[in-house]
Amino acid sequence: MFRLLKRGQVCYLESPRLRENPFLTHAFLTRWNGVSTGKFSSLNLGLREGDEEERVARNWRLIADAFGLSVSQFFPIDQVHGDRIVVVEDLQDKDLPVRCDAVLTARRGVALAVKTADCVPLLLADREKQVVGVVHAGWRGTALGIAGKAVKALKERYSSKPGDTLAAIGPAVGVCCYQVDGKVFDAFKRSVSVRERAFRACQDVEGRWMLDLESANRIQLVEAGIPRENIFSAALCTSCRRDLFFSHRAEKGGTGRHLNFIVLN
Ligand SMILES: [Zn+2]
Repeated sequence: MFRLLKRGQVCYLESPRLRENPFLTHAFLTRWNGVSTGKFSSLNLGLREGDEEERVARNWRLIADAFGLSVSQFFPIDQVHGDRIVVVEDLQDKDLPVRCDAVLTARRGVALAVKTADCVPLLLADREKQVVGVVHAGWRGTALGIAGKAVKALKERYSSKPGDTLAAIGPAVGVCCYQVDGKVFDAFKRSVSVRERAFRACQDVEGRWMLDLESANRIQLVEAGIPRENIFSAALCTSCRRDLFFSHRAEKGGTGRHLNFIVLN
């Protein structure tokens, strides 16, 4: 069970098993207690849907202050629903913000963050090598297998052992609320295990499925070698819990984005 906590004025969830590792700090922020209003109410970090820049900037500062960070410590990425994974140490300032959906680092003080509103935010931490990662996986990223690729990249780049790696899956749209069409189902044609175990055909609507994104990502993590007991999940549906989180689907677009981050102390 993840815990709901408060620091400064921001409220967030944390995984107790990730928290046991003093070398890192992590949080899955809620939408509470920010300064944005209306459909962006209130701790919105997204700018693409039309929130005011000044309010979003203040929300960033609220989060940074709460965790004793500066806003500039958050590594800037442009999420594009792909499967590109970057390593902080390989990039220069001129490369930023970088278009990608996963970031890894062994560098202290660089906060890796993804913004979500239904997509799966995934945090990775290798306890032995002290390397962390963040992944943004909507249906496209999941169909591309980005979670498994991130685990593979940790192995290749840092010699991480999957057995030493912890994975925390944050709040995302649940199977209860995520109906998809044949286009999405077809995108998984090469992932047989995910197709068989994470999709349920809708009883009442022909050609439609309920997709369990969390379980799809969990399957990919296990197939990449992460032990089941090292994978933790918030098990909260963003669409059911619009009181706590933003939900792109439930709000029919035009909503905010909450933040999910991990940083080496
Ligand atoms: Zn739901």
